Amino acid sequence: MKAAVFHTPGSPLTIEDVGISKPGPREVLVRTVAVGVCHSDLHVVDGMYPHPAPVVLGHEAAGIVEQVGSDVRTVKPGDHVVTCLSVYCGHCAHCVTGHLSLCVSPETRRGKGDEPRLTYVQKPMPQFANLSAYAEQMLVHEHALVAIRRDMPLDRAALLGCAVTTGTGAVFNTAKVRPGETVAVLGCGGIGLAAINGAVLAGAGRIIAIDMVDSKLELARQFGATDVINAKQGETVQQVVELTRGGVDHSFECIGLKQTAEQAFGMLKRGGCATIIGMMKPGIKLEIDPFQLLQARRIQGSIMGSNRFPVDLPSLTDFYMQGRLKLDEMISQRIKLEDINVAFDEMRRGELARSVIVFDQ
Ligand code: ZN
Ligand code: ZN
Repeated sequence: MKAAVFHTPGSPLTIEDVGISKPGPREVLVRTVAVGVCHSDLHVVDGMYPHPAPVVLGHEAAGIVEQVGSDVRTVKPGDHVVTCLSVYCGHCAHCVTGHLSLCVSPETRRGKGDEPRLTYVQKPMPQFANLSAYAEQMLVHEHALVAIRRDMPLDRAALLGCAVTTGTGAVFNTAKVRPGETVAVLGCGGIGLAAINGAVLAGAGRIIAIDMVDSKLELARQFGATDVINAKQGETVQQVVELTRGGVDHSFECIGLKQTAEQAFGMLKRGGCATIIGMMKPGIKLEIDPFQLLQARRIQGSIMGSNRFPVDLPSLTDFYMQGRLKLDEMISQRIKLEDINVAFDEMRRGELARSVIVFDQ
């Protein structure tokens, strides 16, 4: 099959032939229809998060089931599916306590001695995020995907696989925003916009969007932000504290920088909670004033929106079909797999909300 192969940081991905195995008992072979270009992929391409290579990146995908293994119960050929990198086993301590996104059970992957899912020039190739979605096909565990309704457009469904689940899930599941609470979102790319939309759905009172790019702030307003702040103009923390007369209940850091993470904590009111979603460079140290902790301010991490994938995805799909979850506005361009490097370049410039690769059907 055709796939975009990452070889080494700093060099462009190349479109090459990659071998893919047949489904094992609990595996599903999916024909990829659409895949979003996400910052986490760019972090690997740029060498910030080292990953064994050569590898096929991509982890925000939707497609159609082609073939299922003998023991697969949840999907059948022809089903429309969204993939999720937080594959879960279903019976470890994390899974049975409802924290599917924390599952690390190795049983959802193939073992060392088994035939690999992917091969490159006849040699085993690692799978990225249990998916490797920049490819015509994906071979995944059945708990790495969920079937969705057929009337949901698959290019928009792809965004549910990472950005939208991460952003809305941080609001619903990690921070548990309640009606009327105040929310600030730092960074209005795909995840930030999803967090804003999630805050609207959760019934947040004031929703303050913060970014340095005016066009993104305009988009943030369309997604439901009640106030916008351009971080280039003045002291962000001070502005939020003044706007809310004392700080917000919840802040969501959606960039992955020390400065904005510290700002997210700094703009909380007493008892408020900062949720850090952005991927920070490993080893970065955050500085916070411990006195702020005495006033019950909290800072927490969130991975993949603490999702309960099989439950959350169908409901997000319904929200979109009802016009309550904005996905059309999030896609800034649709491209071919061959243009993937252009999408990364544009992402480095930080202007576009999100590119989606659409495969020829
Ligand atoms: Zn992602
Ligand atoms: Zn598990």
